[in-house]
Amino acid sequence: MAELHRHHHGRDPVVVWAAPGRVNLIGEHTDYNGGFVMPFALRQSAVVVASPQASGWTVASELTGERHHLGADQLQPGTGGWQAYLFGVVWALREAGHDVVPAALTLRSDVPVGAGLSSSAAIECAALGALADLSGLELDGLTRAKLAQRAENAYVGAPTGLLDQAASTLCTEGHMLFFDCDSLTGENIPLPLAQRGHEILVLDTNTPHSHVDGEYAERRAGCEEAARRLGVPTLRQVTDPEQALADLADDDRLHRYARHVLTENDRVLQAVTAGRDADFAALGPLLDASHVSMRQDYRITVATVDAAVETSREAGALGARMTGGGFGGCIIALCRAGESDRIGAAVADRFAREGWTAPDWFSVTPGPGARRVN
Ligand code: ADP
Ligand code: MG
Repeated sequence: MAELHRHHHGRDPVVVWAAPGRVNLIGEHTDYNGGFVMPFALRQSAVVVASPQASGWTVASELTGERHHLGADQLQPGTGGWQAYLFGVVWALREAGHDVVPAALTLRSDVPVGAGLSSSAAIECAALGALADLSGLELDGLTRAKLAQRAENAYVGAPTGLLDQAASTLCTEGHMLFFDCDSLTGENIPLPLAQRGHEILVLDTNTPHSHVDGEYAERRAGCEEAARRLGVPTLRQVTDPEQALADLADDDRLHRYARHVLTENDRVLQAVTAGRDADFAALGPLLDASHVSMRQDYRITVATVDAAVETSREAGALGARMTGGGFGGCIIALCRAGESDRIGAAVADRFAREGWTAPDWFSVTPGPGARRVN
């Protein structure tokens, strides 16, 4: 990477940060409802190399081969492109009152892009760590996560919750992160997959997302409307789920959305218990139930995703669900050790029979969160 950085900027690296993508084990579309999530970090990560320069910020990505430069007075939310994720981080730091030194940044990432594995948070969190270190700022993981989220929400313009950035900054190796998006507190719980004879398959359906931003915003607005009707700030403050769902019975859409969020929060809590006991037999059905809820109530799955989940189960997975925002992207399947390849191949067979684009798959173990690597 030093070579690539010199090629783009004619400078030697001074700081190197890495930040991972993530899979969300369970807890989907709960983050912006003040709910519970349970991601773990992938070994795939974004690496950002940075060095100070005379003025402005220059960003380059190996993926696009492009380089972009902005001066301090040109940082402007809503200007678009992949570079917005990095300029957005500079902007968010400055907006929070920090002095950010002018810098040259080079980016390389092996997180699959646009697959629901959070390549965007990975590049934001890596850039944030590098810029903070170069600027002599001491920011804890939660502060970094919130600043990265601010960049994505306000500068890029994607109204996402805190899940992705919290996962990237706060996860630790070998653990899953039980995170409460209301109190913004988290706990890393061991996820001894290999030690207990299991593995998790991640399968990218390679289905291009369509209408994903509009659908996401629609779900989010629906949840806010449901909360308003129930007289609570967010669905997290619902104390009597049964009564709440009865109160929404006249509106099928809001009823379904609220039911997904309320039951999903409950499933995360059950998954925490299963996780603490490393009870993978109990975890499987929770993943299955989460998927059914996303398909029937929240309606964020598509045919390829549903088929991948169904085929994984038929091929012997203990449980499977879509992971990520939906409308395409990846599924995860909890498998007995040594079975993920066979299960991935079974899904690939089905996709071939259906005439769909072939999926990609790999097995994952929980990796470390964002960190300085040099
Ligand atoms: P996800 O986070 O699930 O991968 P997003 O749509 O949130 O999907 O983010 C994907 C976007 O992040 C890409 O379209 C691109 O703009 C940016 N991105 C991710 N990785 C890179 C990279 N290595 N180089 C440049 N841009 C990247
Ligand atoms: Mg993203």
